[in-house]
Amino acid sequence: MQHTECATCGRKLKDKKSIERGYGPVCYEKHLKAVADKYKKNQLTIYDFLEEEAV
Ligand SMILES: [Zn+2]
Repeated sequence: MQHTECATCGRKLKDKKSIERGYGPVCYEKHLKAVADKYKKNQLTIYDFLEEEAV
């Protein structure tokens, strides 16, 4: 599926890569950061959970 607008800010996407990703270059970086943060948080939650289980 091809995107014509940025999923975050709604601006029209001009270059092929952005259209494939569905985000403009700036919003894509923000999106990646947000995903990484979420992943980190989840990892921490899992570790906390495992520690609690071990005790
Ligand atoms: Zn955008």
